[in-house]
Amino acid sequence: MPKQVLSLPWLTEAGIELCVRRDDLLDTELSGNKFYKLFFNLESAKQQGFSRVLTFGGAWSNHLHATAAAGRRLGFETIGLVRGEESLPLNPCLQDAKNNGMRLVYLSRSDYQRKQDADFLADLAGRYQAYVIPEGGANLEGARGMYYLGQAIEKDTFDAICIACGTGTSLAGVAAGVLGSTPVYGFSVLKGPGDMAAKVRDFYQTLCDEYPKSSKLENWRLIAGFHAGGYGKKLPAYLDAFGQEFEKKTDILLDPIYTLKLFWGIRSLVEQRFWSRGSKLLVIHTGGLQGRRGFISHKRESYESSFSRVC
Ligand SMILES: *Cc1c(COP(=O)(O)O)cnc(C)c1O
Repeated sequence: MPKQVLSLPWLTEAGIELCVRRDDLLDTELSGNKFYKLFFNLESAKQQGFSRVLTFGGAWSNHLHATAAAGRRLGFETIGLVRGEESLPLNPCLQDAKNNGMRLVYLSRSDYQRKQDADFLADLAGRYQAYVIPEGGANLEGARGMYYLGQAIEKDTFDAICIACGTGTSLAGVAAGVLGSTPVYGFSVLKGPGDMAAKVRDFYQTLCDEYPKSSKLENWRLIAGFHAGGYGKKLPAYLDAFGQEFEKKTDILLDPIYTLKLFWGIRSLVEQRFWSRGSKLLVIHTGGLQGRRGFISHKRESYESSFSRVC
């Protein structure tokens, strides 16, 4: 994957080198961590003989958007269970998903809350005859894809790796996959602690048990406090300004839900001298720029060959 070293005053002052792994450039429709999180899910769906996959998301979900695109390329029918009521015209995210063949089914907020309920899931799987992927691709197969991203990071080149966390699946996978003992910091975009740490621990441990080459060093940390009001909440003006300035100086676009908060959190830790002078950081840009796709060049390559090229 292309990497970009940033040149910004707050990095220079603290003597930190920051390199961004541009997974946002992977693909226009299937960018960032969703590319990795879907790969083994779809492989497993295929192995189990399913021709249809079903998953969940909000009306602006990067995961629904990516699932529709991946399903289309690999020949799966896709069903997206969308939180809330249908609102027409469709927003660009759902319109893309629909154009990629996804069947959109709307769930009331109360039904949507049952998205992890075993009975509810078994009922959906039976009714739609579909392989079910949880919201955000947050299962072991999702973490497994990110494990391979971790394995692809050069050993001992960085002192720390940073990534944004919604469910923590990506953090768990990358941390288990990194070669050596490099710590991986996950910046949570959620307001409350929830059960994210327990989930990360669970996926991390399972991958470590499964792969002899895994890290096994409990090399992950969750960082809280940079949610700026909570998931998907309107950004305060100072964060908007930070994002605009960052984009102008780096030519890297950020999304308001995840990567903007990630870089804001990193800047804050850098300014607090959390990392010592001379440290080299790798930040994984997890994408999520589907609303701004005009900026990114489209790669025409099959999903399988992209995956083996970057992992
Ligand atoms: C989905 C998403 C995340 C969150 O990933 P988790 O594995 O759920 O922690 C982070 N960044 C972007 C851009 C995303 O779309």
